[in-house]
Amino acid sequence: MGNGSRLWGCAVGAAIGDALGMPLEFGPRQPPERLVREMQPARLPAGTFTDDTEMALALAESLLAHCPLDPADLAERFATWYRSGPADVGIHLGQVLRRIAGGEAWSAAVGAVQAHDPEAAGNGSIMRCWPVALAHWNDLPALLADSRLQSSVTHPHPECVASSALINATIYFLLHNATPQEAIAQALDTVRDLPPGLLQAVTAAPGRLRSELKNSGWVRHTVESALWGLLTTHSFEEAVIQVVNLGNDADTAGAVVGALAGAAYGLDAIPQRWRDALRGELPWQRGRAWRTEDLAELAGQLAGHATVEDHAEDWANG
Ligand code: MG
Ligand code: MG
Repeated sequence: MGNGSRLWGCAVGAAIGDALGMPLEFGPRQPPERLVREMQPARLPAGTFTDDTEMALALAESLLAHCPLDPADLAERFATWYRSGPADVGIHLGQVLRRIAGGEAWSAAVGAVQAHDPEAAGNGSIMRCWPVALAHWNDLPALLADSRLQSSVTHPHPECVASSALINATIYFLLHNATPQEAIAQALDTVRDLPPGLLQAVTAAPGRLRSELKNSGWVRHTVESALWGLLTTHSFEEAVIQVVNLGNDADTAGAVVGALAGAAYGLDAIPQRWRDALRGELPWQRGRAWRTEDLAELAGQLAGHATVEDHAEDWANG
């Protein structure tokens, strides 16, 4: 497998995990004998991705315009997304983006919201972090810096910032042919400032029982679910199915494990029936449908054309 396939797998996998989790979001954990394995309709048509992927695409557009990341540009694109009336916006995120959309500088806006609730540590910045890993797939220091920065624009809590760096560092090592176990070990060696509670959750994740995983909107729970899914399965399909069927914040944990497992197993390992079903529309670009090919093309643009052209046969054979 060329690393082109892994790059495409990361972008497409994230959107597919989001879409597969969409009908299971806020629901109960599914019984093991009745796991949802197909794209299902709910509030959106079957196969549709949600805010998690929409925000990732806003981050991707920002990186295509400014790399390394310009946080003011990113904040403005998030504000554009917010003004366009997206179907779902997290509570914390809505508070930050309302201020930015009203003209406040991003640092003042996020500072004011975080000061009001210093413990706020939602998963809203790791659900969208993967474009940074693709834009800096061959530059680990830049990947770490921009992963932290993209979180800080809306989610400055130390667990959110460190989780964004950890997830993207794991993607980095997967893109460079590490196994999931190796990639997480190398990421932990690289991101040395994980708060103790988060580090404990990461270390314990592969040994957790399915029944113990809460999969809430807390960043620590999402990291735990995603790493559990990646480390206790052997395919893209099983990793994503296991995680979205935890229910609760299913689409967000699905997006995170989808990005990781897509980077681990590559685009070719993503079931064709899911690739065919995937779709989405950005609220600020109504009328333009996003499909699997568009996400793969975006991954190539983020990573730089030359890299992906080297592996064009992977996509053609996909
Ligand atoms: Mg969502
Ligand atoms: Mg969610």
